[in-house]
Amino acid sequence: MSPQQKNEIISLLSIIAISALLGAVFDLSFLFVAVTLFVYILFMLRNIFRLHNWLLNRKKDLPDAQGYWGEIFNELYLIEKKTLKQKKLLSGALSRFKKAAQALPDGVIILSQYNEIEWVNPIANNLLGINTKKDKGQKINNLIRHPDFQRYLIKSNFSKTMTIPSPANIDNILTLQIIPFGYKQKMIFCRDVTHVNKLEEMRTNFVSNVSHEMRSPLTVLTGYLEMFSNKLPDDETSFKLGIDNMYQQAARMQRLVTDLLALSKMETAPVEHTKTVNVAALLISLKENAEVLGQDKHQTILLEADESLNLRGNTDELHSLFSNLINNAVRYTPENGEISISWKKLGKQAVFSVKDNGPGIAPQHIPHLTERFYRADIDRSRESGGTGLGLAIVKYAIERHDGQLDILSKLDEGSSFSCYFPEQRLILNSSNNAA
Ligand code: ADP
Repeated sequence: MSPQQKNEIISLLSIIAISALLGAVFDLSFLFVAVTLFVYILFMLRNIFRLHNWLLNRKKDLPDAQGYWGEIFNELYLIEKKTLKQKKLLSGALSRFKKAAQALPDGVIILSQYNEIEWVNPIANNLLGINTKKDKGQKINNLIRHPDFQRYLIKSNFSKTMTIPSPANIDNILTLQIIPFGYKQKMIFCRDVTHVNKLEEMRTNFVSNVSHEMRSPLTVLTGYLEMFSNKLPDDETSFKLGIDNMYQQAARMQRLVTDLLALSKMETAPVEHTKTVNVAALLISLKENAEVLGQDKHQTILLEADESLNLRGNTDELHSLFSNLINNAVRYTPENGEISISWKKLGKQAVFSVKDNGPGIAPQHIPHLTERFYRADIDRSRESGGTGLGLAIVKYAIERHDGQLDILSKLDEGSSFSCYFPEQRLILNSSNNAA
């Protein structure tokens, strides 16, 4: 028993004793004690009602009282103050948590123990198409209906993530992971992995394409080598044909490896484009190479280059870029065709372009031409010694020089490949002595 409670009992007993003594004077002790107790009960009731009223409306101040009731109200006041402080701390922590979850790059959903949506961050709204206002309280399995998710939700072990197409956009791939917390509550983390999936798909396709490209020359080579190891052909013509074929296939593999190495170098090497490249001089030598490459076709190759216009960049990458476009024009343009190469200023930019009057490219192929191993005309590409990587290299090299590739082509009329370089890449020289 607390000292206050002892005091209250002592006070009550004292009042009863005093009223009994007073009553004894008039010989009415019983009546005096009864009246005193009645007044005491009224006093108690009044304070109980005041307490109850305050409990019904906690916004009001606590009632004032003396003695034991004063102590009770004081204790209540201290408890109320502590609760308010804790509430403030909690709501501060909650709002900090919400802010942190809102800033997360991943989607977050908080579920009740019955898998009902309690809270969703904006990323999860977008990724899963959840509308916080409308869907709050809804069961998550009514919104994400994919069977794999339904199975995952009833599992007890969530250590692994799961992957599903987004219910908001079937083309987007999401990974989800459930993290249990509190009393049977769950938190779902979701992330858009469409890009990663595409990269993985590209990697697998790339490996299978390279293997496919290598397989046919290797089959030819091993076929001839097997034949020759069994018995060398008697006549010189068959022998020479075999050697020629082997040479062509080996050269094809060599071109493929060279192109693959060029691509991988551009993918991994940091962009170090500090050299001043004399584009006009480079184009003169590439034009000479092109004339040798197409010497049997009697094509007309024209070059118009602004000698005062240099590029800040990487000589090897620009060499690859220009030579791939020029050589493609030579390879695809038939006999007596015309090819024009130009390098000039166009407004603030500079443009390198190669035009030919060759077979042209059908419009459906144009957006895919810079993909690795994409060929608009497979037979023509292989016949002319193509690897299918030329325009992929061109695209990389242009991007690494902050430029843009523009392809215009019409079937049976010809093609035009133009590369635009921005102002900050240009160096104008009146007397040209760049590399
Ligand atoms: P390839 O080694 O097959 O030439 P590229 O990546 O250099 O590979 O070119 C991709 C495809 O674009 C080629 O297979 C060809 O179909 C088409 N192409 C490129 N340049 C020309 C051109 N000047 N005229 C017609 N088609 C072209």
